[in-house]
Amino acid sequence: MSIDPRSYEYPDDILKNRIVLITGSSDGIGKALALHAAGLGAQVILHGRSVPKLEKVYDAIEEIDGAPTPSIAVVDLESANAESYMTLAQSIESEFGRLDGLVHNASILGERYSIEQYDAVLWQKVMHVNVTATFALTQVFLPLLHKSDDPSVIFTSSGVGRTGKSFWGAYAVSKFATEGFSQVLADEHRHSKLRSNCINPGATRTNMRLAAYPAEDRDLLKRPEDILAPYVYLLGPDSKGITGESFDAQ
Ligand code: NAP
Repeated sequence: MSIDPRSYEYPDDILKNRIVLITGSSDGIGKALALHAAGLGAQVILHGRSVPKLEKVYDAIEEIDGAPTPSIAVVDLESANAESYMTLAQSIESEFGRLDGLVHNASILGERYSIEQYDAVLWQKVMHVNVTATFALTQVFLPLLHKSDDPSVIFTSSGVGRTGKSFWGAYAVSKFATEGFSQVLADEHRHSKLRSNCINPGATRTNMRLAAYPAEDRDLLKRPEDILAPYVYLLGPDSKGITGESFDAQ
């Protein structure tokens, strides 16, 4: 019987002994996932660009009974260079020796303009943070993922990464690229243990959603903590062999 990841149920130690890096875990969905994964036993590496925000998440994890002490990885995906990525990978290799889960969650929205009006510099920035930085991280972490017995890479897509819509500009195009990236990685690893899948979180109560829809009633939206079951499914052992797929979290 196949599992619907949205209603996946799991024991409270399902991620025990798994080393998981979550990009953009200082806020929104990434932060909620970091807290939840740590509570499920994962050794979480908190990635972001703001030390004070990451330290708050770190402190909150320290309060969770039984959660392994997390690590913090500060890399600004807009300005990082090859050396920054290599240093990060080397520090994870020397501390943990492998990586079991890589969640590409950090993204920026850019502006809601038509293609005709879209600023070329902003376009480049969105594509850089949402796509090129994801490539750089994936490439530098692949050797560490291959050292895991059950490696999983999760990409974060969007509804506008499956059907193009007016005024979503570079963000939508970057999410189409994200879906494609996950499929390419999955196909390249079809004979290895590594799985690569996409999750579309759906409308979720975060700062990014607020920026995209400032006038909507936030109380009607799911909270980040409500949509995490598919992430846990894909990070944990029950999704072995599932690869090249794209899931909806709602
Ligand atoms: P969010 O609240 O804006 O959080 C984004 C995270 O990415 C933050 O931790 C942010 O760090 C980090 N980030 C942004 N730029 C960065 C950079 N240059 N370097 C390092 N980290 C950076 O967004 P969210 O709503 O949780 O979104 C999470 C993912 O879900 C994104 O991929 C988004 O596209 C996707 N998504 C969200 C929705 C939704 O309704 N919320 C719907 C579909 C898809 P700071 O804390 O420093 O800003």
